[in-house]
Amino acid sequence: MINLILFGPPGSGKGTQAELIVKKEKLTHISTGDIFRKNISQKTELGMRASSYMKKGEYVPDQLTIQLLAHELDSFIDSQGFIFDGFPRTLNQADAFKHLLDQKKMSLSLVISLDVSDNELVTRLLNRGIESGREDDQNEDVIRNRIQVYKNQTEVLKTYYEDYLQDSFFSINGQKSIEDISKDIEAILIRYKN
Ligand code: AMP
Repeated sequence: MINLILFGPPGSGKGTQAELIVKKEKLTHISTGDIFRKNISQKTELGMRASSYMKKGEYVPDQLTIQLLAHELDSFIDSQGFIFDGFPRTLNQADAFKHLLDQKKMSLSLVISLDVSDNELVTRLLNRGIESGREDDQNEDVIRNRIQVYKNQTEVLKTYYEDYLQDSFFSINGQKSIEDISKDIEAILIRYKN
């Protein structure tokens, strides 16, 4: 079983790379952002609660997010492993995640962090906003707020996982082409499996 966190700021390419990995590996891709967006489009109660935070580029409260993640893990009980994309994003989430994995006798295999400069992130997110119509990608203030929230609440998890996982924490240059980043990730996965 491989349990991998793809880590990085909004626009660093986590979703794109996760989709490329699942084409080759039998892993379940869990993107908390995608699940929130699906709930918003289906007008569920969770979607309504998450929407007000997402519009502003703020984080959905930990309790709600952790409950959602626990539910997702339960619904893919037979999975051969997971790619976590956009979770955990706070220290509380990382601690709760550890407990959840312990309870399920699962462990974290790898964390791969994608490093991208702020200017490149803004450019990518604005472009994605035009292409996808995603509401939180259409307003530069919201985009800059999301990058700031990442720095304030999420970046600290890099040191957290570096300390915790040591040799299984990898930082890669997320400004290369999609294909080159994918090759870097593949090399890490191959090394892990051997
Ligand atoms: P993403 O698609 O990962 O960029 O997430 C889009 C938005 O969903 C974020 O800006 C947050 O508002 C919300 N979100 C996604 N994942 C989380 C999380 N782990 N914790 C809190 N909020 C989240």
